Amino acid sequence: MPIHAKDPRERAAGSLRSMRNCCNKSDFYTLRVPYATDATPKSAIDSQVFGISPSTDAHAPQVMVVTSPDLAVLGRMRSPALLSCIPHFNELPSMSYVITAAAPASLAIVGTDARFPLHRIYCIGRNYADHAKEMGAAVERSQPMFFMKPADAVVTDGADVPYPSATQELHHEVEMVVALAHGGHDIPVERALDCVFGYGVGLDLTRRDLQAAAKAKGHPWDMAKAFDHSAPVSALRPVAAIGHPAHARLTLDVNGERRQQADISDMIFGVAEIIHELSKLWTLVPGDLIFAGTPAGVAALLRGDRFRAELAGMAACEGRIV
Ligand code: MN
Repeated sequence: MPIHAKDPRERAAGSLRSMRNCCNKSDFYTLRVPYATDATPKSAIDSQVFGISPSTDAHAPQVMVVTSPDLAVLGRMRSPALLSCIPHFNELPSMSYVITAAAPASLAIVGTDARFPLHRIYCIGRNYADHAKEMGAAVERSQPMFFMKPADAVVTDGADVPYPSATQELHHEVEMVVALAHGGHDIPVERALDCVFGYGVGLDLTRRDLQAAAKAKGHPWDMAKAFDHSAPVSALRPVAAIGHPAHARLTLDVNGERRQQADISDMIFGVAEIIHELSKLWTLVPGDLIFAGTPAGVAALLRGDRFRAELAGMAACEGRIV
């Protein structure tokens, strides 16, 4: 579906929308972007064709770069990697934003220098019975409880985690993390795992005192859950390398002492069910990340604490509260 619009920025935005809308229908797409170097005259860029169309050959996904009049193949990549092309649009001389657009947050991937560009972070609450019990909440199979964190709340590559403002009770919640390569709306349970790019482990850091106050007043959880640096995450392990683990030991050590441990098979809603349920409420897209819930043992972190979260045999996330 080639897109022709007057303004290159509109063409870029339109193509990105198209790419997201159709990413759940096929694995691979051809993305054509106007490509510019310092030597490219602006008039040449404006005249270039810009469009996106499903790749005709699923085994040869391509990013096409139009350098008028020649077509050049910039690289071969799967659709999630195409999203990482977004920064290129910001670099085009024909683009004009009134402020500098932020680069997308991203995660490392074990085995490659390419990164996973983040779209949204969804979190499920009360997904282990023992944790729901320790929080005094009922275990409900009927309706999962979701909340979100901003994508730029991630702390990656073992960076220090600043102790957040406005809390006296920062809590750790170790969780399996699920990264989506494909999305969609109303995704059936039996097709949900096909959306997964890979798995990791992270901490759903929580201002527990603010959460308790919000719960008491029936207020939203954003101040308790969605603060800056509230989501340390490991490098991802692709499904291609580890498959879809049904069992895996999930642990958190703080200063060398075990704080939380469980097996992911104890989750009330499994990964496929979480994706299915989320897709009833939001249209999921490549780049979405899901925190799959925490087991019992949540407790306070203090400045100077060192933590190590692990999904045995798959991922580890180490860091320090400063
Ligand atoms: Mn959590």
